[in-house]
Amino acid sequence: MARDLDCIFCKIVAGEISTPLLGSNELAIAFRDIAPRKPVHILVVPREHHANVVELAESSPEELHAVVSLANQMAKQFSGGSFRLTFNTGAEAGQTVFHAHAHITSETAKA
Ligand code: AMP
Ligand code: ZN
Repeated sequence: MARDLDCIFCKIVAGEISTPLLGSNELAIAFRDIAPRKPVHILVVPREHHANVVELAESSPEELHAVVSLANQMAKQFSGGSFRLTFNTGAEAGQTVFHAHAHITSETAKA
C-alpha cells in the first residue's frame, strides 16, 4: 500500500492519529473535517497516498470510484440530499494536504 510517512491522512488511514470514522469501504475512508466550514463538512480519503485527484484518477480509477461512491453514501446519511464535492488541486487552489481527498459540503445537516 503506497504511503507517505509524513502525510497526516496516511497517519489517519493507518490509525496512528485517531479520528472517528463515519464510514469506509475497501479503498477509502470518511471522517469529519477538523475545521468545518459548512453544517456538513466531511472528507473522503483514498487509503493509498496520491498527491491529488488527478494522480488518483490516472493511477487508480477504482480508488477514485470508491471515493465518489463513499461520498455519495455519506451525503445520503448526513446531508439533506444535495451536496458539493470539491477536490482542491494545487496550493494556489487552496490544497493544504497533499493526499487526494474530497470535501463533501452541504448547508443541510440531517438530524
Ligand atoms: P485542503 O485544503 O483541500 O487540502 O483540505 C484539507 C482539509 O483537511 C482542511 O479542510 C483541514 O481542515 C482538514 N484537516 C487537516 N487535518 C485534519 C485532521 N487531522 N482531521 C480532520 N481534518 C483535517
Ligand atoms: Zn498520504
